Amino acid sequence: MQAKLETKDTLYIGGEWVAPSSTNTIEVVSPTTEEVIARVPEAAEGDVDRAVEAAKAALVGPFPRLSPAERAEFLAKLSQAIQARAPEIAEVITNEMGSPSSWALMGQVYSSTMVLDGWAELAQTFPFEELRAGALGPVLVRKEPVGVSAGIIPWNVPLFIVALKLGAALAAGSPMILKPSPETPLDSYILGEILDEIELPKGMVSILPAGREVGEYLVRHPGVDKVGFTGSTAAGRKVGAICGELLKRCTLELGGKSAAIVLDDADLASTLPMLMPNALMNNGEACVAQTRILAPRSRYDEVVDALAEAVKGTTVGDPGDPSIAVGPLVAERQRDRVLGYIEKGRSEGAKLAVGGGRPAGLDRGWFVEPTLFVDVDNKMTIAQEEIFGPVLSVLAYDDESDAVRIANDSDYGLSGSVWTQDVERGIDVARQVRTGTYGINQFGTLDLRQPFGGFKASGVGRELGPEGLSAYLETKSIVLPGDYQPPS
Ligand code: NAD
Repeated sequence: MQAKLETKDTLYIGGEWVAPSSTNTIEVVSPTTEEVIARVPEAAEGDVDRAVEAAKAALVGPFPRLSPAERAEFLAKLSQAIQARAPEIAEVITNEMGSPSSWALMGQVYSSTMVLDGWAELAQTFPFEELRAGALGPVLVRKEPVGVSAGIIPWNVPLFIVALKLGAALAAGSPMILKPSPETPLDSYILGEILDEIELPKGMVSILPAGREVGEYLVRHPGVDKVGFTGSTAAGRKVGAICGELLKRCTLELGGKSAAIVLDDADLASTLPMLMPNALMNNGEACVAQTRILAPRSRYDEVVDALAEAVKGTTVGDPGDPSIAVGPLVAERQRDRVLGYIEKGRSEGAKLAVGGGRPAGLDRGWFVEPTLFVDVDNKMTIAQEEIFGPVLSVLAYDDESDAVRIANDSDYGLSGSVWTQDVERGIDVARQVRTGTYGINQFGTLDLRQPFGGFKASGVGRELGPEGLSAYLETKSIVLPGDYQPPS
């Protein structure tokens, strides 16, 4: 049965629901049924201009001048209002991009509200103003809003990435123009309703679903001071180049090809049940997924057998069914891309242990079987490039230094983990792997209160924690007279 077609005819600009400046539309296609489930306006350049004007007005309006505690209150309210609609939002995200409902409520929604709660807490303790001793006398060091910011959002965890960026911007007092991906505009409409409900001062947020051309127009816009971008490394290079040329502040959160190192003393019975869900999280469409599993040669067969068993047992199907672990990929082109990588793996000599095609009985929807490659060499394309689908590779290593060498033999450096019964040994490995986050006997994806970001081609700058907040602030030093005494 054809699902009811949802339509929207307004955009959220400067805190108002307004008619779009063009007749362009985005069709949202269900990755499960391949049917059009919604039609929304696509923001155009005129809408970006209006959003920037509203943000510039908001920058000199009341919100940036609120106390950090008052700004924190808005963040806490935003979190609570999202929590109140959590099941509905999770379902919308499942419908638009195929995130399994068994994961979406926590992975897509509550993880986002936990991030917002973290920003609310940090806003209250962060030193926005400090009186410091300078070389000649006292200096007041202030952290001020960076200006008008743009948040460019990918489709894989849309609300979560919004929470990372918008939370930091609001904690800093910086207005933000969000540009959701054309694949996932629907959850952003709920966000607009919630921003209305919490009565966030107008102009602080605009939401402009659109494609990359309008995204680039926003990045280039002379009224935008800071760009927070999350997406592919290819697009990130482009955005970074524009920001470099125009001297805009910029944070880039890009792709990954992270390695999980299973040390020779690891307890496989406890390790694998934790590794597997991480590697296939969100249908494998996760930048932090650890898709290279490094096993000691001495225990290689044991690791492969256990992983093969686990991958074979992974359920694939309708993401709305809570018993399903892996749903469809976001789009037909993504399914074809992933199948292309699987073909490349075969042709370059990797051995297919499980999966490798489209699942039987699922003729509709962009499904790919959970797939396990073994005998993978780190030089192969499937070990070097981000696949962004449910495809894992197992690689053998000789000793610990060989494992570190393989983990580091990557253009990327986002995440990773080590699995061992000796935590000190794990910390030693963690110190040597060049990635922005790392876990010992746990995912090492990201801690919701501490800095997250990439080494190498995985990005520039950090989100979350005080480092992430600083990315939405400018620093001003006010040099005071030598005999200055602060009011008591
Ligand atoms: P993408 O790069 O195609 O698009 C990301 C966003 O950028 C979209 O909103 C898109 O419209 C916009 N965009 C693309 N080109 C642009 C340009 N030239 N100027 C301005 N905006 C532009 O990525 P995607 O396919 O939506 O997302 C998947 C990618 O995102 C993966 O590579 C994944 O690893 C990465 N990702 C990284 C993180 C992280 O925190 N490091 C988190 C999630 C996803």
